[in-house]
Amino acid sequence: MTEPLEPVTEKDRRDELAANLEAVERRIADACAAAGRDRSEVTLIVVTKTYPASDVRLLADLGVRNVAENRDQEAAAKAAECSDLPLVWHFVGQLQTNKVRSVTDYADVVHSVDRGRLVTALSSAAQRQGRELDCLLQVALDKEADEGAGRGGVAPDAVLELAEQVRAAPRLRLAGLMTVAPLAGPYAGRPREAFERLMEISRSLRSLEPTANMVSAGMSSDLEDAVAAGATHVRVGSAVLGVRPRLR
Ligand SMILES: *Cc1c(COP(=O)(O)O)cnc(C)c1O
Repeated sequence: MTEPLEPVTEKDRRDELAANLEAVERRIADACAAAGRDRSEVTLIVVTKTYPASDVRLLADLGVRNVAENRDQEAAAKAAECSDLPLVWHFVGQLQTNKVRSVTDYADVVHSVDRGRLVTALSSAAQRQGRELDCLLQVALDKEADEGAGRGGVAPDAVLELAEQVRAAPRLRLAGLMTVAPLAGPYAGRPREAFERLMEISRSLRSLEPTANMVSAGMSSDLEDAVAAGATHVRVGSAVLGVRPRLR
């Protein structure tokens, strides 16, 4: 016979999130210290995908100011439920052009800009809504050695061309670069080298657009590598909220 699961009270959940946040905060602070960087150079974005709006609310109460989601349907509902909270919403998932109008309703920053058609769609949605949108170009480091299409992302040698498209697009602000440590290709299993390569691409981007200085890299398993390489934003999900019930 199996025992029914203990209901988790809001107090228990708050304590759990507080402890996890403290541990992640310590990891970021240690990584900054090891790299000789000031803690204020790195912003924690908590990835809340698959977790309920009640968790977002607890996180906001615990001082979190940046949250990220990767699926529009889930994100739109959660952002609506949490619209009274002082949060910056980041969209980090692969984005289809037919979802752009919805995403630009709640997202302040889109990390996954990877093609010209998406730039056009984001720009017209932002114009229609009369707002400015921060855009990061998602770099696919597994496309470096001509390895072909993996998940989302623009190949490193196409970054500057896409950057020019964002710069020319009304209501879009070119804010920087994002990557996910690749599972295939020359950087598989070498997140530190992957993030260092991203920083190199960031330097050439900044010579084109000095204010495009955001570098979004590092997740629960590799945030230290990202901070060591120079990331300005780390995206941490499971280390704060727990291991997700479903793989996404
Ligand atoms: C889910 C996700 C994260 C967070 O991953 P964890 O391993 O749970 O920290 C970061 N970035 C993107 C793009 C994600 O989809």
